[in-house]
This record gives sequence, structure tokens and C-alpha cells, in this order.
Amino acid sequence: MLEQTTLAERIARVRAQVADAALRAGRRPEDVTIVAVCKTFPRDAVDAAYLAGMRHFGENRVQEAQGKLSDPPMPADAMLHLIGQLQSNKSRPAASLFGLIESVDRLSLIDALEREAERLERPIPVLLQVNVAREPQKSGCAPEDAPMLAARLAASPAFDLQGLMTIAPLVPDPDLARPTFAGLRDLRDLLRAAHPGHALDVLSMGMSDDYPAAIAEGATHIRIGRAIFGTR
Ligand SMILES: *Cc1c(COP(=O)(O)O)cnc(C)c1O
Repeated sequence: MLEQTTLAERIARVRAQVADAALRAGRRPEDVTIVAVCKTFPRDAVDAAYLAGMRHFGENRVQEAQGKLSDPPMPADAMLHLIGQLQSNKSRPAASLFGLIESVDRLSLIDALEREAERLERPIPVLLQVNVAREPQKSGCAPEDAPMLAARLAASPAFDLQGLMTIAPLVPDPDLARPTFAGLRDLRDLLRAAHPGHALDVLSMGMSDDYPAAIAEGATHIRIGRAIFGTR
């Protein structure tokens, strides 16, 4: 089935479901940004998604993104999101290539990125990734460490802390992921109260299998791979 639809049709279907989920939650569809996750897909597919209207692209490896998305460079209005775990020694290319680093989750990485911000002489836009469901294999900080890490990010001129990101557990029914999404939103509300100077508007949560549930719980950014590009 998926193979018989075009990329443009799959994007249209995701857009329709985003609008439906947003309206059901009393939200505006345009307040949900679709990040097209193009990891493992070739540049041709990325260009096709751009032509179909996508402007946000997610990659989980710095090296793959460097090879694929910087030569030739993406159009100036395309924004690249790093959504995978970042090794501190890749901070330099990551800071210059990505418009938003969604996977900041530990002090050592924050220290490394801070040095790059000083070198670039501009703040680095980041999200704090939280392992809300406390899954042992997943990256993201523990929920109890989020206040300390958010305070570190908020206090440094090296960062533009825009919000939080999480990956929900793989569950048979997307509704079972809702407590995880609600947990990220509650944590955001807590951190927002602690840091009134920071809007923390961004909640990056929801993927191909669970994005309507994430939108119902307030997702502002959904990270969609397979539902746009097909199975990996
Ligand atoms: C791969 C990936 C996605 C997209 O997953 P799909 O199930 O293909 O939509 C979203 N977020 C992260 C962090 C990923 O690594």
C-alpha cells in the first residue's frame, strides 16, 4: 500500500491527520510543525519532500547529515533538526549544521556545546531531551535531572533553550503513550514557572505511530519518518 502512494500523497495524508488531531484538541493546525525525519533516505527524497512543502528536516547522525545535507547546501529556508544522540566530539559540526539540537541531555555535552557557541559568537538553539518513561535503553535525561540541566541551559548566554523533547515507548496502542506526552508537558510547565524569562514553547513529541496522541497532549513539533518517506 505505502509503496503505491507518492511522497506528496503521504505528506498530504500526514497534514490532514495533523489538522484533524489539532482541531479535535481545540488547537490550530498551523501550531504543529512537521519535522520530516529523513535519516537513511537519500538526498533525492529530501529534495522531493522540500518540493512538496516540507521545511523542517530531522536527522539522527551528524556525519550522515553532513554528507547528505550540506553539499549541495539545503535551501536557506530549510531548517535542520538533530534528533539523535550527540557525542561531545561532534559538537562543532552539529552546532554549525543544525538549526535546532533536540537531543541535549547531559552536562558534559552542554559544556562542549557552550564552547562552540562562544566560537560561533551566537547562541545555539536547543531542546532538553527527557526520558520521561525512564526506559533504560533510551537517551534523554532522567526527569529528576531536568530542572538542574534546564537551569544550566537557561543561565548560559550560549544557549537559546526553546523547550523539551521526548521519545515515547513503543506501545501497541498510541493512547498508551499519552501519559508520557502529558508528562513532558507537565515538566515543561514546571520549568517555565521556574524560568519566567524562557517561554519554552516547544514540545517535540510524537512519531509516525503516535503523533495524533502527541498533538492531543500539546505537541508543537512532531518527528515523522516512515509515514512520509516509507519504511526504512
Ligand atoms: C527515527 C526517529 C523518528 C521518526 O520515527 P518514525 O517512526 O519513522 O516516524 C523520530 N524521532 C527520533 C528521535 C528518531 O530517531
